[in-house]
Amino acid sequence: MTTTIDRPVHTVVHGQRFHWVGDGFRVTNLFPSGADLGRRISPFLLLDYHATYDYEPTDRPRGVGVHPHRGFETVTLAFEGSVEHHDSTGAGGVIHPGDVQWMTAASGILHKEHHESEWAKHGGTFHMVQLWVNLPAAHKMDAPRYQSLTAEAIGAVDLPDGAGIVRIVAGDYRGNKGAAETVTPVDLWDLQLTGATPVDLAFAPEHNVSLLVLDGTMAVNGTRASHSDLVVLDNTGEMVRIDPATPSRLLLLGGEQIDEPVAAHGPFVMNTRDEIIEAFRDFESGKFGYLAD
Ligand code: MN
Repeated sequence: MTTTIDRPVHTVVHGQRFHWVGDGFRVTNLFPSGADLGRRISPFLLLDYHATYDYEPTDRPRGVGVHPHRGFETVTLAFEGSVEHHDSTGAGGVIHPGDVQWMTAASGILHKEHHESEWAKHGGTFHMVQLWVNLPAAHKMDAPRYQSLTAEAIGAVDLPDGAGIVRIVAGDYRGNKGAAETVTPVDLWDLQLTGATPVDLAFAPEHNVSLLVLDGTMAVNGTRASHSDLVVLDNTGEMVRIDPATPSRLLLLGGEQIDEPVAAHGPFVMNTRDEIIEAFRDFESGKFGYLAD
């Protein structure tokens, strides 16, 4: 019989002050600002959390205009409200509640993101997450691609003992595979817990694990966490016990570290400063294509 050791909690990052991305996304940044978590968070680079917030009706959808990305992926999860997206490859679509957009910017893309126009006309409560996921050097200059993952495609798996459900966006939970194709191993799970009983999850020590609390109050391996907290687990031990005090929802961010230098500036994340300069030059000379405002 094997003994599984609990993973210590490395740190709990509390949601910081809100800031606006464009005029449509009122977010708190859980990383990279604050604690230096790079190695433990990899392959994730950035987490902006848009907690529930009510928008007034408008005929001019709020959002963020045309901007570039290179060297990584942007992953947008809509929980409440709908986001409309257009990019310079001609792709576009609407991310409805429960859907996820997995956009691989890779060699370069221009895109814009707004509240969906019909949704904006009525207004209402908006709740979402945007993540940046790093790409290894060998794939940073791949062609851009776009995975539109509907709530239906993502599905849901029951957790043991009536603990709730897990929606597997990416990764693998007990042989249930996520909807997204990823370049390196990534877990992105939406855990919805009834609060009736704890949930035990096990990961190899070198596999990074963090939990963003979307709703509720719980203990994670004995450390209390609540709404907008990011619980970052250490890279020792295996077992992660989530013991909810209330019905709860958490987003699990896991994966294997990409052990390469990170050179990040604005919307570009490469391996070297020279590659960042090249990205700005390529963007300014039109190599990212064209997208109308
Ligand atoms: Mn963007």
